[in-house]
Amino acid sequence: MDNGIRVRFAPSPTGPLHIGGARSALFNWLLARRHGGTMIVRIEDTDLERSSRESEENILNALSWLGIDWDEGIGKGGDHGPYRQTERLPIYREYTEKLLASGQAYHCYCSEEELEAERQDLMARGEMPQYMGKCRNLCDEDKRRYEAEGRKPVVRFRVPVNEDVIIEDLVRGRVVFESNGIGDYVIVKSDGIPTYNFAVVLDDALMEITHVIRGEEHLSNTPRQILLYQALGLNMPVFAHVSLILGKDRSKMSKRHGATAIEQYQSKGYLPEALANFLVLLGWSPVGEEEIFSLPELVQQFSLDRVAKNPAVFDLEKLNWINGCYIRQTSVERLTEMALPFLREAGYITGEITSDRYEWLKMVVLSVQEYLSYVAEITEYVNIYFDEEIEFENEEARQVLLGEQIPTVMAAFRDKVQEMAEITPEAVKAMLKALTKELKLGGKHVYMPVRVAMTGQTHGPELFYILPILGQEKILARLHRSLAKL
Ligand code: GLU
Repeated sequence: MDNGIRVRFAPSPTGPLHIGGARSALFNWLLARRHGGTMIVRIEDTDLERSSRESEENILNALSWLGIDWDEGIGKGGDHGPYRQTERLPIYREYTEKLLASGQAYHCYCSEEELEAERQDLMARGEMPQYMGKCRNLCDEDKRRYEAEGRKPVVRFRVPVNEDVIIEDLVRGRVVFESNGIGDYVIVKSDGIPTYNFAVVLDDALMEITHVIRGEEHLSNTPRQILLYQALGLNMPVFAHVSLILGKDRSKMSKRHGATAIEQYQSKGYLPEALANFLVLLGWSPVGEEEIFSLPELVQQFSLDRVAKNPAVFDLEKLNWINGCYIRQTSVERLTEMALPFLREAGYITGEITSDRYEWLKMVVLSVQEYLSYVAEITEYVNIYFDEEIEFENEEARQVLLGEQIPTVMAAFRDKVQEMAEITPEAVKAMLKALTKELKLGGKHVYMPVRVAMTGQTHGPELFYILPILGQEKILARLHRSLAKL
């Protein structure tokens, strides 16, 4: 049901989808889904040099991976297409003609060098650089002369003087810009391609967008856009500018603070629902203390009035914590699928996997599920199953096997293992229980030596996983080798 809310995500395909873009996309999507509105994805590819289809695909794939779908736009179609700006040039041309005809825009023939000289001049005088309007009132003769010189004009918007441009921003409140500080800006470049500020206005208006939710870095573009809506008599959306994302040291989020592209998280084995959960919390806050939300739960709860004005801080540890929560909740089958590429890359798994081997792998994954912050970490935890050469991790571990009762404990353990018909988690639990009882020792005096003898470490997965994963032959071989090493 369409209640009239129409939002859009309008990425420039000049690189992979980044954290900030993904968060904007999510906020738009959540608003649409919360209110039964329409989500649109359009591509802003007017930067011909930097735009590529490869980036476009990367962005769309990353959106889909995160669970963000759309109703209209690229790959979906709709009544307001085309949805790629380079395919909309005739539309922009039509509106450019209108603005030129009414005198609200004009051709400017200034060269880069002239503009640069003007900028330097203004700065030397301590003024803000802006276009001073040299071509504002050219006569036909001037134009003919410039054209004869081979100059190719841009089109500039004639900014009204002495006006306050007011943004009633849903996040930032009322923001006022003075039109005199803006300077006539370029709306069409000399190659006929519109600039972002012009194309975005026509697209948002013609696509009947009701809410523009985007990053705060676009706030300073907004007065330029508002002036164009007014000049063209177009319906204006409401704006919501979401705060910047900062690193923990409060400087603008960059690669120093962690990966910035969504695909980097995907390839490290983060779960999309965990990353989405984390991204929504970069700026939006829930009503209660709970911070773990599925997308459907977020759809129920999301509202723009809980989007904060102050900057969001990107905290990788928090992401890891959230991801760890999701990893513990997810199925071992899914985790095993996700773990396979990492295990192969580490050389732990090669060739075809039989169904027995797959069941075995599932137990390997299950044994370390609770420790993982993201799936790529698995190789650090499972090496104990694959490296047959036991190394004591430190002197403390070696000491565990030097205790007085160790020979007795180890002999009894060896006998028990040899007697076992099947080494399953249940059978191991029963065996260890019987062993401690027979030896009349506290659990610790049995479990710890067995653990060190099997892995060289004093910590790690449960023994009732480790022993079945190793199997009888390896248990006995490791026992022999560890004791021989002391
Ligand atoms: N193409 C712009 C960007 O990627 C979109 C800005 C907007 O949402 O208006 O930053």
